[in-house]
Formats: sequence, structure tokens, C-alpha cells
Amino acid sequence: MPFYPNEVIQQLKAQADISLVIQQFIPLKKSGNGRFVGMCPFHDDHSPSMSVNPTLGIYKCFACGAGGDVFKFVQEHEKIDFNGAVEWVANFVGFPLPNFASKESAEVTEERAMVRKLNELACEWFEQQLALSPKALEYLAKRNISESTRREFHIGYAPDGREGFIGYAARNGFSPRDCVKAGLATEKKNGGIADKFRDRLMIAIQNQSGIVVAFGGRDLAPKQEGFERPKYMNSPDTALYNKSDILFGLNHSRSSIAKENAVIIVEGYFDLISLYQGGVTNVVAASGTALTETHASILSRYAKTAYLVFDGDAAGRKATLRSLEIVLPKGIAPRIFALSRPDGTKIDPDNFVNERGADAFRAE
Ligand code: ZN
Repeated sequence: MPFYPNEVIQQLKAQADISLVIQQFIPLKKSGNGRFVGMCPFHDDHSPSMSVNPTLGIYKCFACGAGGDVFKFVQEHEKIDFNGAVEWVANFVGFPLPNFASKESAEVTEERAMVRKLNELACEWFEQQLALSPKALEYLAKRNISESTRREFHIGYAPDGREGFIGYAARNGFSPRDCVKAGLATEKKNGGIADKFRDRLMIAIQNQSGIVVAFGGRDLAPKQEGFERPKYMNSPDTALYNKSDILFGLNHSRSSIAKENAVIIVEGYFDLISLYQGGVTNVVAASGTALTETHASILSRYAKTAYLVFDGDAAGRKATLRSLEIVLPKGIAPRIFALSRPDGTKIDPDNFVNERGADAFRAE
């Protein structure tokens, strides 16, 4: 039975926002003074009786008296023991718990913490580089991405070159090998290490608590004869990132999905960003993979209905049908809709919002 030192527990508690944790299970509404209220899950509640105070890190139900800290909530709600609740919360915030059981796990824990720090560093650096790149800024302007959206989604730019990022990482105490482990560099057959993302617009992929776990990179390089670069490139799975578990945008859209009890599932990062910017905020995208059962389980905590955008081509149709099969067993009712221009041609959500606006999207 692992048991964690008190200082570790206190550190974790300080990092875990209790309102975010509780919103994994029940919807909460802001109630002023930075507090939240919600329906108490521990009795048959008919008016929101539970108050959550993120500053003090506690919850309290004024009807049935249930109350305590973040661990108590998870323990009671998930019917697990204290250690289990500590592990659940640590996993949720991306906090590296020391593991006393095995050496190998301690190494994994350490690697997760390293990857997390390196991703933070990369995220800052990509954002700095974006401000220096007229090309990348122009691209965002062309896609109608505002400055505040750019900041909210931590959009950056990875310049062309082999060692731009790994050089910066080295000056900040990370080895090229660390960069490979974090999925930010690749090792060549000859043993050389180079930046993975080059001349790409970088989109930070955050987990539900806003921690940057990976990146998606959109190619900005000019076309070259006989040389094809993938349009989108994603971080590989790392100690911190498992693409089957992460839904892009969920850290932004979670409360709005819960409020509407419905989620719009789109394919691309920019589909999501354009919709979100246009005010359609209950939206998520799978990152670098088709929708998985884990994705559907996560969404089922927030929404009873999923809107799937039906893409006209054969591959898109197949993906939509597969998504249907995945969400149905999780108790989510799928609704399929196809987007088209007034002349009847098919269009993706990003272009639709840019051409016709978010209100037109909502009307569909
Ligand atoms: Zn209660």
C-alpha cells in the first residue's frame, strides 16, 4: 500500500483546483466571491446545495452536511480509499507522485515531470518565436485568428532549422535527449538529434487542467517539387501524453459542454479554434487520432448529446460512422449534420464560420 508523505499531499492539494476537480463529476456555477455552487451528488438534491470554495480548497453541502477537501470529494464520489483519491487527483493535475513501490515507476514519474517542464519551456519559446515571424502572423491573420484567441490557445511558431529549440532547451538545462523524450526532437539514423517541428505553426495541446502535454504543428513551408511534408504533425506519445486520452480544447470548453449538455466534435484544431472564437464554445477535437472509447467516456461525464460534423468524402464518412459506434455505448446520443455553402458545396467548420459566421453555424 503506497502512502505519501504529508508534504507531498499538501503540495498536490495546493496545485489542484477543487472546482476543476469537482466539475469532472458535476456541473458547477459561479456564485460570486470566486465560489461555485452545484447540485450535491451525496443526497437527492433539488436546489444547488453544494458550495465549493477554491480559495480554501473545500466543498460543503448545506443540506446533508457532506464536506471536506479535494481528496475527500473524490474518495466519496468514486468510492475509493484515500491513497486512490490522491492518485486520481495527481493524475488529473499532472502532478508527479513519488512511487515507493518500484524503481522503474519512479523513473517514469521523474520523466513525466521533466517532459512537463520542457513542454512549458517550448510553449513559451514557440509563442516568442511567433511574435518574430511575419509569415506566421500573416497566416493567423488570414485565418481570422485574433490576438486574444492566439494567446488563449497558446499558438506559437517553430522556426525552420535543426537546432533552434534544442539549443534553447540546452541553455535552460535540458539535453537533446530530454527533447527526444518530450517528443520535441527526433533522433536520426546516424545518431544526430534535430528539432522535430520546423517551420510550423504550433498549437499547444493541453490536458483538462490546462497543462501543456503535447503540440500540433501546421506546416507553413512553401511547396517544394517532389518533396511532400505532412500538413499536420503531432507530438508522439510521451510519458506525459497519450493521444487516446486527450481531447483538444476540453480545458476551455468543459463548462460550456456541461451547461449545454451537448458537445460538438470536430476534426481539426482550427475548426475548434474558429468555432470557439465565434462563440460556439461547447466543442472538442481529437488530437492526432480518431475518437477513442476513452474520449467518449470523458465526454459522457459532461454531455448527453454529441454533434458530429459529417464530412462528405469517403474517409470522412467512415470516420463519422466509427465515431457513432464509439459514443453510443457510452450513453451519448449522436446527431449528425453536414455543413454546406448556399450553393450546396461541402465545407468544413473552420471555413464555414469564417464565411458565414458562428450564428449561421448555430442555426445548423
Ligand atoms: Zn448534500
